Amino acid sequence: MDNQIFSRKLNPITKKNGVSIIINDKKYIDFSSNDYLGLSQHPEIIKACINSVKKYGFGAGGSRLLSGDRKIFHKLEEKIAKFKQKQDALVFNSGYQANGGIISAFCPAIYKTILLDELCHASIIDGVLLSKVTFKRFKHNDVESLERLLKTTSQKALVITESVFSMDGDIAPLKEIVDLKNRYDFGLYVDEAHATGIFGNNGSGMVEKLNLTDKVDYIMGTFSKALGGFGAYLACDNYAKNFIINKCRSFIYSTALPIPVIECNSKSIDIVRKDKTRRQELLEISIYFKTLLQKNALKTPSDSQIIPIIIGEESKTIQISEILRKKGFWVLPIRYPTVPLNEARLRFSLNYGHTKENINEVVKILKNFLLCHEYK
Ligand SMILES: *Cc1c(COP(=O)(O)O)cnc(C)c1O
Repeated sequence: MDNQIFSRKLNPITKKNGVSIIINDKKYIDFSSNDYLGLSQHPEIIKACINSVKKYGFGAGGSRLLSGDRKIFHKLEEKIAKFKQKQDALVFNSGYQANGGIISAFCPAIYKTILLDELCHASIIDGVLLSKVTFKRFKHNDVESLERLLKTTSQKALVITESVFSMDGDIAPLKEIVDLKNRYDFGLYVDEAHATGIFGNNGSGMVEKLNLTDKVDYIMGTFSKALGGFGAYLACDNYAKNFIINKCRSFIYSTALPIPVIECNSKSIDIVRKDKTRRQELLEISIYFKTLLQKNALKTPSDSQIIPIIIGEESKTIQISEILRKKGFWVLPIRYPTVPLNEARLRFSLNYGHTKENINEVVKILKNFLLCHEYK
């Protein structure tokens, strides 16, 4: 048996209060959570959840196409469409199910081939594999590499990328990719899992921030990260929505999300729209961290709240993450196959609740360790 498969372990949290968590009776500052804005514990969301359970109970009772559908799903979809400035939207049970289902429904029915960034998330890759169409991967965030592939592709392609990359925390050159659409005819699908709730004036994501909402055909995102909830969505036109309702197996053959989950997701969009302070604080503390890394000659590819430090060697990465945990910081090593071989890394997910003191201490530990381990 492959030992690597069994080196992943589950570590249940027994108590959580903001960024402070308790695991195995030890207290840590959590640097691994995607609940970037702490909305999972927001009092208004908790209240919405309790009220909703009292009113509707819990489970939806069936898939949306049977009797699991309710008005509030449609209200949430209208809200997302407005939030994302697209014609329409559709809710999915998770980001994994959305990517897997949408990509394999569109391909090969609408698009005969797929071009995707080489660092796209596993859920995108699984959707591509499930579709069984031919696909090619372009070099990470490399528009010229994408154009070379477009030049040699005669069939209509679906181009897929993430706006904020989940493992590198860098940002796709979406403007340049959109420019290519003037010369090559393709569909553009952007996964905003890590951008939703954080970027843009309304907080809807990077596509909004770059003013590209009309140019991106399919904007996918999740409620599971900065929105502190669960589930996902596709913002698109009416035709694509109808197509998905009729053809997407992960939408058709799965029970709808529990109604309180829908109500909480809806509330979290309201909160993000009206309260900019948490996302501003998150971006400020992220910049503080990156500046301090730079001052200490530590590098990161990050342009966002996801800040990886690529160490390379797996054993060294595990060692430093153990040191950090001993000192009370919950940061996990990310390694192959989640990231390419020899690119093992510590991945810091920043949170609006992190303090400068937390960051100062982490950088000090990193510096001390890496200085005596010839960091390149
Ligand atoms: C987390 C993530 C997903 C999956 O979303 P879930 O709602 O957790 O299933 C999809 N795409 C990207 C880029 C992600 O980071």
